[in-house]
Amino acid sequence: EKEELMKLRDIKTRTKSGKRVEVAGNIGKPEDVLKVIENGGDGIGLFRTEFLYMDREEMPTEDEQYESYKFVLEKMGEKPVVIRTLDIGGDKKLPYLVMPEEMNPFLGYRAIRLCLDRTDIFKIQLRALLRASVFGNLKVMFPMISSLDEFLDSKKIVDECKAELKAEGKEYSENVEWGIMIEIPAAAVMADELAKYVDFFSIGTNDLIQYTLAADRMSEKVSYLYDPMHPAVLRLIKMTIDGAHSQGKWCGMCGEMAGDETAISTLVRYGLDEFSMSASSILRAKQLIMNEE
Ligand code: PEP
Ligand code: MG
Repeated sequence: EKEELMKLRDIKTRTKSGKRVEVAGNIGKPEDVLKVIENGGDGIGLFRTEFLYMDREEMPTEDEQYESYKFVLEKMGEKPVVIRTLDIGGDKKLPYLVMPEEMNPFLGYRAIRLCLDRTDIFKIQLRALLRASVFGNLKVMFPMISSLDEFLDSKKIVDECKAELKAEGKEYSENVEWGIMIEIPAAAVMADELAKYVDFFSIGTNDLIQYTLAADRMSEKVSYLYDPMHPAVLRLIKMTIDGAHSQGKWCGMCGEMAGDETAISTLVRYGLDEFSMSASSILRAKQLIMNEE
């Protein structure tokens, strides 16, 4: 069985009808990229960069981040690497960053909301990403986008960083794609509109499910409500994929659902272009996708 799966390592996954589907890996630490390569990943679909910020005494510097992003991009060569900007807050805290006391941290000051407020922190990461972009096929995505303005404001800060780098004589690539995570129901509902502005979507089902069904993803007590196959969740996923395609953009998924063997068939049928999951699930997912129409 394991040997059968290993044969799929270097195969580009297509459905029976010939549609190309990318199967990528999720990583937290830069070294995790090696496991994705070992397991035949077509790329990195989610690099959760908050792990670079955690378990330490102070912020990672621009150079430290640059080295981490460069490492992953170089290892993947021409293959796409989707790096998500800092998604701190909610369940993830940093010892050196004072956060407000909130009744509902998952509905509060986190991810892009924090970054657009603390542009000093955000710019260090964006500069590191831009500088690393010359070493591979970089795509950057912003987490927890709820409206177009957040994306446009983020892009403005990217432009500021580009201007700074140019003035300093530092290189960056103009081929970076800029996308958003769809993990708030409002964004899924507005997907066709958002798709006019972004280069791609990646659906974050872990949060999308909790917000759609109002069921905390960390709570055992309500976990029976947390259902990836709830028709409301499925509709939002379909709207997101259709919205992307209506504007000629691609749509991936990087939440746990992408690696869920019972969900893959439905997602292929909806036209999902990219699945991103933990490295250990990649080969099995390739096999399942190849058996779909
Ligand atoms: C998600 O919400 O599905 C996701 C991929 O992001 P995280 O699990 O890091 O919140
Ligand atoms: Mg999320």
